[in-house]
Amino acid sequence: MRDEIHNLLRQIPPMDELLSRPWVSEIELLLGREAMKSVFADVIGELRMDLREGKSVDINVRRIEGEARKRLQLKAAVSLCPVINATGIVIHTNLGRSVLPREALEAVVATGGRYSNLEYRLDEGGRGQRNDHVEWLLCQITGADAALVVNNNAAAVLLCLSALARDREAVVSRGELVEIGGSFRIPDVMAFAGTKMIEVGTTNRTYLADYAGAVTAETSMLLKVHPSNYRIVGFHAEASREELAALAREKDLILLEDLGSGVVTDLASSGLEGEPTVRQCLLAGVDVVTFSGDKLLGGPQIGVVAGRKQIVECLRRFPLLRALRVDKMTLAALEIVLRLYLQGKSGAIPTVHMLRLSGEELRSRAQALACRLREVFPQGTFEAIPAEDAVGGGAFPEHPLPGWAVAMTFPGLSSSSLQRKLRKGAFPAVVGIWNDRVTAHVRTLLDGDEERLVQALNDLVGEGAEGLER
Ligand SMILES: *Cc1c(COP(=O)(O)O)cnc(C)c1O
Repeated sequence: MRDEIHNLLRQIPPMDELLSRPWVSEIELLLGREAMKSVFADVIGELRMDLREGKSVDINVRRIEGEARKRLQLKAAVSLCPVINATGIVIHTNLGRSVLPREALEAVVATGGRYSNLEYRLDEGGRGQRNDHVEWLLCQITGADAALVVNNNAAAVLLCLSALARDREAVVSRGELVEIGGSFRIPDVMAFAGTKMIEVGTTNRTYLADYAGAVTAETSMLLKVHPSNYRIVGFHAEASREELAALAREKDLILLEDLGSGVVTDLASSGLEGEPTVRQCLLAGVDVVTFSGDKLLGGPQIGVVAGRKQIVECLRRFPLLRALRVDKMTLAALEIVLRLYLQGKSGAIPTVHMLRLSGEELRSRAQALACRLREVFPQGTFEAIPAEDAVGGGAFPEHPLPGWAVAMTFPGLSSSSLQRKLRKGAFPAVVGIWNDRVTAHVRTLLDGDEERLVQALNDLVGEGAEGLER
């Protein structure tokens, strides 16, 4: 037995032999020799392990080579790449949330490829603050006295709790102790910030008196949290912002609201009512709000803290801020997005534009796409159908957006394998499935995506009947 294993081990091709294959040099250009060798070493190492553990392994040099080549090709391809979002979910966290406007991308390229006045005052020739480039704009758009930008909204909440309520108590409703996707849990964030969480009320009903009864000499803030994509419906009560603000003033506390998405523009015309804007929250008396930059704002990944000057000043001096600061490329994009709002050009922000698309526009786009697909692929079936889109990003969970999609089938191809093949194509497309048909929602398609989709389908049909059946 031992001899047999020994024999097999000896049959594993040596690294040098594998490295001398003609296809290797092309991959070496992309990965470098050392990284490439580590992949070969992994494949050989796993094979040896299998042999030692007595698993039946046949030592086929071509198979070993094939396995190594497959892994190397995966490593050699650029990993983070554009995809077609045909899900109809506008703020799709897994697909990068908001798409940046062209003007913002131009600013990223201009600023990222050169030196900039990121922290330099051109008027005085001395040190400046990176936040200065966007603070005034944020204040104009939200009505806040002061504002600060950090890495994301989770960081904004953490900063506020750490700076304003460390070793103190914060009162929060049991109905708002939520988990937001990606393991952001309010109780955990509070614990991490060193804030003592004082839960009040019940899951479905919390009154002002619950908050008032919980305030002690140790209390530093009242915390309100947007429940994101979770809703309590039916027998439900919560204290209003105005009531909480009055209580906070009376007891000399801070009223902090984690707004999550942070609406800054009118979305009611898109049938999206019921979410207060950042400005409305501040006007109702909230001292500081936090929200994301890449949800309904439609900008890059950042978190905003906006509100009363005195509180924001206190955050500015807090050492944690240094660890949460944002990059110049992000700030460049954010500044331009904010300027678009100021100029009344929010329609140039893709997230806002997609949310405002009318049913009529979506229907004609879906019909045109179905038509085009029928022309190119006579073997398939394509039908424009009404479909349910979504805002995503935890915003407006009870407001499915009425959308349109192209439902498609190809003979001999199940919807799940068509979906998988589209995901794995040269230009990956993420599509839905509805009633056993693949659906491409048109709301989230960007310029040129229709043709890319045609190309992607063409690639997979081009694999031939064999390709279609796999
Ligand atoms: C999305 C969200 C967060 C997290 O924001 P990120 O920008 O993803 O860090 C926190 N709180 C609420 C209420 C949210 O909706």
